[in-house]
Amino acid sequence: MHITGTTPHTWKKELANVVTEPTELLELLGIEPNNYLQHFKARQLFPVRVPRPFIEKMKKGDINDPLLKQVMPLHNEFVITDGFTTDPLEEHDTVAKGLLHKYKHRVLMIVKAGCAINCRYCFRRHFPYQDNSPSKADWQEALTYIADHNEINEVIFSGGDPLMANDNHLAWLIERIEAISHVSRLRLHTRLPVVIPQRITPALVAQLKNSRLKPTIVLHINHPNEINQEFADALEPLKAARIPLFNQSVLLKGINDDAQTLSSLSEKLFDTGIQPYYLHMFDKVQGVAHFEVEEQTAINIVNETMAILPGFLMPKLVREIAGEANKTPINLT
Ligand code: SF4
Repeated sequence: MHITGTTPHTWKKELANVVTEPTELLELLGIEPNNYLQHFKARQLFPVRVPRPFIEKMKKGDINDPLLKQVMPLHNEFVITDGFTTDPLEEHDTVAKGLLHKYKHRVLMIVKAGCAINCRYCFRRHFPYQDNSPSKADWQEALTYIADHNEINEVIFSGGDPLMANDNHLAWLIERIEAISHVSRLRLHTRLPVVIPQRITPALVAQLKNSRLKPTIVLHINHPNEINQEFADALEPLKAARIPLFNQSVLLKGINDDAQTLSSLSEKLFDTGIQPYYLHMFDKVQGVAHFEVEEQTAINIVNETMAILPGFLMPKLVREIAGEANKTPINLT
Protein backbone atom coordinates (compact mmCIF):
# COMPACT_ATOMS: atom_id res chain seq x y z
CA MET A 1 0.00 0.00 0.00
CA HIS A 2 1.39 3.39 -0.85
CA ILE A 3 0.24 6.10 1.38
CA THR A 4 -0.60 9.72 1.13
CA GLY A 5 -1.23 11.80 4.20
CA THR A 6 -3.48 14.80 4.54
CA THR A 7 -0.97 16.71 6.67
CA PRO A 8 2.40 15.40 5.53
CA HIS A 9 4.24 18.69 5.64
CA THR A 10 3.18 20.10 8.98
CA TRP A 11 5.57 18.01 11.02
CA LYS A 12 8.34 18.68 8.54
CA LYS A 13 7.82 22.39 8.93
CA GLU A 14 8.24 21.97 12.68
CA LEU A 15 11.31 19.85 12.06
CA ALA A 16 12.82 22.49 9.80
CA ASN A 17 12.07 25.09 12.44
CA VAL A 18 13.70 23.45 15.50
CA VAL A 19 15.67 25.74 17.78
CA THR A 20 19.42 25.12 17.49
CA GLU A 21 20.71 28.25 19.23
CA PRO A 22 20.77 28.12 23.03
CA THR A 23 20.39 31.91 23.06
CA GLU A 24 17.11 31.68 21.20
CA LEU A 25 15.96 28.82 23.42
CA LEU A 26 16.43 30.89 26.57
CA GLU A 27 14.99 34.05 25.02
CA LEU A 28 11.82 32.16 24.07
CA LEU A 29 11.50 31.27 27.74
CA GLY A 30 12.13 34.82 28.93
CA ILE A 31 15.49 33.86 30.48
CA GLU A 32 18.49 36.18 30.04
CA PRO A 33 21.00 34.17 27.90
CA ASN A 34 24.02 36.25 28.92
CA ASN A 35 23.90 34.66 32.38
CA TYR A 36 24.46 31.20 30.86
CA LEU A 37 26.96 31.82 28.05
CA GLN A 38 29.61 29.62 29.72
CA HIS A 39 27.38 26.59 29.12
CA PHE A 40 26.75 27.10 25.45
CA LYS A 41 30.15 25.66 24.35
CA ALA A 42 28.83 22.19 25.18
CA ARG A 43 26.95 22.31 21.91
CA GLN A 44 30.29 21.44 20.27
CA LEU A 45 30.00 18.05 21.97
CA PHE A 46 26.40 17.46 20.92
CA PRO A 47 24.36 20.00 18.95
CA VAL A 48 21.31 21.68 20.42
CA ARG A 49 18.01 20.71 18.78
CA VAL A 50 14.68 21.53 20.38
CA PRO A 51 11.33 21.52 18.56
CA ARG A 52 9.09 24.46 19.36
CA PRO A 53 6.08 22.39 20.50
CA PHE A 54 8.37 20.96 23.22
CA ILE A 55 9.50 24.45 24.24
CA GLU A 56 5.85 25.48 24.58
CA LYS A 57 5.50 22.92 27.37
CA MET A 58 8.29 24.52 29.41
CA LYS A 59 7.62 26.96 32.23
CA LYS A 60 8.58 30.51 31.31
CA GLY A 61 11.40 32.09 33.30
CA ASP A 62 12.48 28.85 35.00
CA ILE A 63 16.05 27.76 34.25
CA ASN A 64 15.36 24.63 36.31
CA ASP A 65 12.36 23.59 34.27
CA PRO A 66 12.56 19.77 33.99
CA LEU A 67 11.98 19.85 30.23
CA LEU A 68 14.54 22.59 29.65
CA LYS A 69 17.12 20.64 31.67
CA GLN A 70 16.79 17.73 29.24
CA VAL A 71 17.93 19.87 26.30
CA MET A 72 20.05 22.68 27.75
CA PRO A 73 23.81 22.29 27.12
CA LEU A 74 25.92 22.51 30.27
CA HIS A 75 29.65 22.99 30.78
CA ASN A 76 29.55 19.85 33.00
CA GLU A 77 29.43 17.89 29.73
CA PHE A 78 33.18 18.51 29.36
CA VAL A 79 33.90 16.59 32.58
CA ILE A 80 35.47 13.18 31.94
CA THR A 81 34.27 10.63 34.49
CA ASP A 82 35.82 7.23 35.28
CA GLY A 83 33.52 4.36 34.35
CA PHE A 84 31.71 6.39 31.70
CA THR A 85 32.31 5.59 28.01
CA THR A 86 31.29 6.87 24.59
CA ASP A 87 29.49 3.59 23.79
CA PRO A 88 28.07 2.23 27.06
CA LEU A 89 25.94 -0.39 25.32
CA GLU A 90 28.64 -1.36 22.81
CA GLU A 91 26.28 -0.72 19.96
CA HIS A 92 28.94 -0.09 17.35
CA ASP A 93 28.85 -3.75 16.31
CA THR A 94 26.28 -3.81 13.53
CA VAL A 95 25.51 -7.04 11.62
CA ALA A 96 24.52 -5.05 8.53
CA LYS A 97 24.61 -1.31 8.06
CA GLY A 98 22.14 0.14 10.56
CA LEU A 99 21.15 -3.26 11.98
CA LEU A 100 21.92 -4.44 15.53
CA HIS A 101 21.19 -8.02 16.55
CA LYS A 102 21.59 -7.82 20.33
CA TYR A 103 18.70 -10.08 21.32
CA LYS A 104 18.14 -13.53 19.80
CA HIS A 105 14.59 -12.99 18.51
CA ARG A 106 14.68 -9.25 17.91
CA VAL A 107 16.68 -6.92 15.73
CA LEU A 108 17.04 -3.21 16.13
CA MET A 109 17.03 -1.28 12.91
CA ILE A 110 18.42 2.23 12.75
CA VAL A 111 15.82 3.44 10.30
CA LYS A 112 16.95 7.02 10.36
CA ALA A 113 19.94 8.71 11.89
CA GLY A 114 19.31 11.64 14.16
CA CYS A 115 16.32 12.89 16.11
CA ALA A 116 14.02 15.87 16.15
CA ILE A 117 15.29 16.64 19.65
CA ASN A 118 18.75 16.16 21.10
CA CYS A 119 18.40 14.98 24.70
CA ARG A 120 21.59 15.86 26.51
CA TYR A 121 21.66 12.54 28.44
CA CYS A 122 21.33 10.47 25.24
CA PHE A 123 23.36 7.27 25.34
CA ARG A 124 23.73 7.52 21.56
CA ARG A 125 25.18 11.02 21.61
CA HIS A 126 28.54 9.62 20.47
CA PHE A 127 27.07 7.09 18.04
CA PRO A 128 28.61 7.43 14.55
CA TYR A 129 25.30 8.20 12.88
CA GLN A 130 27.07 9.39 9.73
CA ASP A 131 28.48 5.86 9.24
CA ASN A 132 25.14 4.28 9.99
CA SER A 133 22.76 6.59 8.21
CA PRO A 134 21.10 3.96 6.03
CA SER A 135 19.96 4.31 2.45
CA LYS A 136 17.39 2.07 0.72
CA ALA A 137 20.27 -0.14 -0.49
CA ASP A 138 21.43 -0.50 3.12
CA TRP A 139 17.90 -1.32 4.24
CA GLN A 140 17.90 -4.02 1.57
CA GLU A 141 21.05 -5.52 3.09
CA ALA A 142 19.40 -5.44 6.53
CA LEU A 143 16.24 -7.03 5.11
CA THR A 144 18.30 -9.84 3.59
CA TYR A 145 19.90 -10.47 6.99
CA ILE A 146 16.47 -10.59 8.66
CA ALA A 147 15.12 -12.93 5.97
CA ASP A 148 18.13 -15.22 6.46
CA HIS A 149 17.59 -15.49 10.24
CA ASN A 150 14.47 -17.48 11.02
CA GLU A 151 14.81 -16.88 14.75
CA ILE A 152 13.95 -13.17 14.33
CA ASN A 153 10.27 -12.61 15.06
CA GLU A 154 10.31 -8.92 15.90
CA VAL A 155 11.82 -5.90 14.22
CA ILE A 156 12.34 -2.78 16.28
CA PHE A 157 12.55 0.48 14.41
CA SER A 158 14.94 2.74 16.23
CA GLY A 159 17.36 5.52 15.48
CA GLY A 160 17.97 8.21 16.05
CA ASP A 161 14.24 8.32 15.74
CA PRO A 162 12.58 6.10 13.12
CA LEU A 163 9.74 8.58 12.64
CA MET A 164 12.27 10.98 11.15
CA ALA A 165 11.76 8.87 8.01
CA ASN A 166 9.04 9.93 5.57
CA ASP A 167 5.78 8.02 5.63
CA ASN A 168 6.50 6.67 2.14
CA HIS A 169 9.91 5.39 3.15
CA LEU A 170 8.41 3.74 6.22
CA ALA A 171 5.73 2.17 4.03
CA TRP A 172 8.40 0.78 1.70
CA LEU A 173 10.26 -0.74 4.62
CA ILE A 174 7.21 -2.08 6.45
CA GLU A 175 5.93 -3.77 3.30
CA ARG A 176 9.23 -5.58 2.82
CA ILE A 177 9.28 -6.73 6.42
CA GLU A 178 5.69 -7.94 6.04
CA ALA A 179 6.97 -10.15 3.21
CA ILE A 180 9.32 -11.99 5.61
CA SER A 181 7.03 -14.64 7.02
CA HIS A 182 8.89 -15.36 10.29
CA VAL A 183 8.58 -11.74 11.44
CA SER A 184 5.31 -11.23 13.30
CA ARG A 185 5.83 -8.03 15.26
CA LEU A 186 6.94 -4.50 14.55
CA ARG A 187 7.89 -2.11 17.29
CA LEU A 188 8.64 1.59 16.93
CA HIS A 189 10.74 3.34 19.54
CA THR A 190 10.11 7.02 19.15
CA ARG A 191 10.13 10.33 20.97
CA LEU A 192 9.09 12.35 17.95
CA PRO A 193 5.31 12.49 18.65
CA VAL A 194 6.09 13.80 22.14
CA VAL A 195 8.09 16.71 20.77
CA ILE A 196 6.20 17.22 17.48
CA PRO A 197 2.69 15.75 17.90
CA GLN A 198 1.86 16.45 14.23
CA ARG A 199 4.12 13.51 13.36
CA ILE A 200 1.16 11.17 13.92
CA THR A 201 -0.15 11.58 10.38
CA PRO A 202 -3.23 9.81 8.98
CA ALA A 203 -0.90 8.02 6.55
CA LEU A 204 1.26 6.66 9.34
CA VAL A 205 -1.75 5.47 11.32
CA ALA A 206 -3.23 3.78 8.23
CA GLN A 207 0.04 2.01 7.44
CA LEU A 208 0.30 0.58 10.95
CA LYS A 209 -3.37 -0.23 11.23
CA ASN A 210 -3.38 -2.19 7.96
CA SER A 211 -0.14 -4.05 8.55
CA ARG A 212 -0.19 -7.81 9.03
CA LEU A 213 2.59 -7.23 11.60
CA LYS A 214 1.37 -6.47 15.10
CA PRO A 215 2.61 -2.92 15.60
CA THR A 216 3.50 -1.46 18.98
CA ILE A 217 4.73 2.03 19.74
CA VAL A 218 7.07 2.67 22.64
CA LEU A 219 7.24 6.35 23.46
CA HIS A 220 9.89 8.08 25.54
CA ILE A 221 8.52 10.51 28.12
CA ASN A 222 10.41 11.41 31.27
CA HIS A 223 8.24 13.99 32.97
CA PRO A 224 4.48 14.57 33.32
CA ASN A 225 4.81 18.08 31.86
CA GLU A 226 5.69 16.49 28.51
CA ILE A 227 2.08 15.34 28.21
CA ASN A 228 -0.30 18.09 27.15
CA GLN A 229 -3.64 18.17 25.39
CA GLU A 230 -2.16 18.59 21.92
CA PHE A 231 -0.08 15.45 22.37
CA ALA A 232 -2.99 13.51 23.87
CA ASP A 233 -5.22 14.51 20.93
CA ALA A 234 -2.55 13.43 18.43
CA LEU A 235 -2.56 9.93 19.92
CA GLU A 236 -6.31 9.44 19.49
CA PRO A 237 -6.12 7.92 15.96
CA LEU A 238 -3.50 5.41 17.15
CA LYS A 239 -5.73 4.44 20.06
CA ALA A 240 -8.73 4.17 17.73
CA ALA A 241 -6.63 1.83 15.57
CA ARG A 242 -5.91 -0.26 18.70
CA ILE A 243 -2.17 0.16 18.44
CA PRO A 244 -0.69 -0.51 21.87
CA LEU A 245 1.19 2.45 23.32
CA PHE A 246 3.89 2.01 25.95
CA ASN A 247 6.31 4.37 27.58
CA GLN A 248 9.86 4.14 28.72
CA SER A 249 11.54 6.80 30.80
CA VAL A 250 15.07 7.38 31.94
CA LEU A 251 15.61 8.13 35.62
CA LEU A 252 17.41 11.47 35.58
CA LYS A 253 18.80 13.48 38.44
CA GLY A 254 17.04 16.82 38.85
CA ILE A 255 14.32 15.88 36.35
CA ASN A 256 12.26 12.95 37.60
CA ASP A 257 14.20 11.50 40.54
CA ASP A 258 11.41 11.65 43.11
CA ALA A 259 8.34 9.54 43.85
CA GLN A 260 5.88 12.39 43.35
CA THR A 261 7.07 13.14 39.81
CA LEU A 262 7.22 9.47 38.82
CA SER A 263 3.78 8.69 40.18
CA SER A 264 2.31 11.76 38.54
CA LEU A 265 3.97 10.68 35.26
CA SER A 266 2.45 7.19 35.45
CA GLU A 267 -1.02 8.57 36.27
CA LYS A 268 -0.85 11.01 33.39
CA LEU A 269 0.42 8.36 30.98
CA PHE A 270 -2.46 6.10 31.93
CA ASP A 271 -5.00 8.92 31.54
CA THR A 272 -3.58 9.46 28.04
CA GLY A 273 -3.85 5.78 27.11
CA ILE A 274 -0.16 4.92 27.44
CA GLN A 275 1.04 2.02 29.57
CA PRO A 276 4.14 2.73 31.72
CA TYR A 277 6.67 0.07 30.77
CA TYR A 278 10.31 0.66 31.71
CA LEU A 279 12.13 3.07 33.97
CA HIS A 280 15.71 2.89 32.81
CA MET A 281 18.72 3.40 34.94
CA PHE A 282 20.86 5.96 33.26
CA ASP A 283 23.46 4.62 30.80
CA LYS A 284 26.95 5.72 31.70
CA VAL A 285 27.78 7.78 28.66
CA GLN A 286 30.73 10.14 28.81
CA GLY A 287 29.84 13.78 29.47
CA VAL A 288 26.54 13.42 31.30
CA ALA A 289 27.48 12.12 34.76
CA HIS A 290 25.57 15.07 36.25
CA PHE A 291 22.30 13.25 35.39
CA GLU A 292 23.25 10.08 37.23
CA VAL A 293 21.02 8.67 39.99
CA GLU A 294 22.91 6.14 42.13
CA GLU A 295 21.40 2.67 42.21
CA GLN A 296 20.48 2.68 45.91
CA THR A 297 18.80 6.07 45.51
CA ALA A 298 16.87 4.73 42.52
CA ILE A 299 15.70 1.73 44.54
CA ASN A 300 14.50 4.00 47.36
CA ILE A 301 12.63 6.25 44.91
CA VAL A 302 10.97 3.29 43.20
CA ASN A 303 9.93 1.78 46.53
CA GLU A 304 8.38 5.11 47.54
CA THR A 305 6.60 5.31 44.17
CA MET A 306 5.23 1.80 44.62
CA ALA A 307 3.61 2.94 47.85
CA ILE A 308 1.68 5.57 45.87
CA LEU A 309 0.74 3.75 42.66
CA PRO A 310 -1.24 0.60 41.89
CA GLY A 311 1.03 -2.17 40.58
CA PHE A 312 -0.17 -1.93 36.98
CA LEU A 313 1.09 1.65 36.77
CA MET A 314 4.60 0.83 38.01
CA PRO A 315 7.24 0.75 35.28
CA LYS A 316 9.97 -1.87 35.76
CA LEU A 317 13.26 -0.45 36.95
CA VAL A 318 15.90 -1.87 34.61
CA ARG A 319 19.45 -1.40 33.55
CA GLU A 320 20.84 -2.28 30.17
CA ILE A 321 24.20 -4.03 30.40
CA ALA A 322 26.43 -4.34 27.35
CA GLY A 323 26.48 -7.92 26.06
CA GLU A 324 23.50 -9.09 28.17
CA ALA A 325 20.70 -10.75 26.21
CA ASN A 326 17.95 -8.91 28.12
CA LYS A 327 17.43 -5.77 30.10
CA THR A 328 18.45 -6.49 33.68
CA PRO A 329 15.76 -5.81 36.30
CA ILE A 330 17.06 -4.07 39.42
CA ASN A 331 16.41 -5.96 42.64
CA LEU A 332 14.31 -3.64 44.80
CA THR A 333 15.07 -5.19 48.20
S1 SF4 B 1 15.08 11.01 21.30
FE1 SF4 B 1 16.15 9.23 22.16
S2 SF4 B 1 17.78 8.72 20.70
FE2 SF4 B 1 17.06 10.83 20.24
S3 SF4 B 1 18.41 12.18 21.42
FE3 SF4 B 1 16.63 11.78 22.71
S4 SF4 B 1 17.24 10.02 23.96
FE4 SF4 B 1 18.65 10.10 22.22
